[in-house]
Amino acid sequence: MTILVTEDHIRGSLYALVDDVLAGLGYHGDDPHFDRTPERFIDFLWQFRADQEPFKFTTFPNTEGLDSLVVVGDIPFYSMCAHHMVPFIGKAHVGYIPDQEIAGISKLARAVEYFARRLTVQETITNKIVELLVERLAPLGCGVVMQAEHLCMSMRGVQKPGHLTTTSALRGVMLKEPEAREEFLSFVSLRR
Ligand SMILES: [Zn+2]
Repeated sequence: MTILVTEDHIRGSLYALVDDVLAGLGYHGDDPHFDRTPERFIDFLWQFRADQEPFKFTTFPNTEGLDSLVVVGDIPFYSMCAHHMVPFIGKAHVGYIPDQEIAGISKLARAVEYFARRLTVQETITNKIVELLVERLAPLGCGVVMQAEHLCMSMRGVQKPGHLTTTSALRGVMLKEPEAREEFLSFVSLRR
């Protein structure tokens, strides 16, 4: 016999778990503000589930032999820390120097969203984006810089709101040639 576990089943059992958490925190009774809180919370978490549809990374042949740096900067993102299940929020900067393939420009932002929208850590997102660029574009070089405030550091633990964590991943000429790296980093507007 095959037992089908539907999305509704999973969500229903998750709502019940959140009900228990609320009761454990002392939020019992009939306060109307909590009527649908478990559903809302699980709907929010649902967007961070592990099995997400991959997106189509559109590329175009580089028929003109373009070899200049392309950077999409200030891409806002939000994600959820795998260690604490608490959000981190910031901006990503993604660049590459084409070889045979040019990326559909929106796909750089899409890649940020795709890897950020899950329970993960900032270092992993940064690395996965750069690895995707290498795999799909085989560029002369590419780089990703991300900056974010981690609410697990702001609201708990060391409690330092306003801090920023910066991560970077560089490949190809961005890694090996100081001029290419400096050009990329000069296009990246970091908060200090
Ligand atoms: Zn954390």
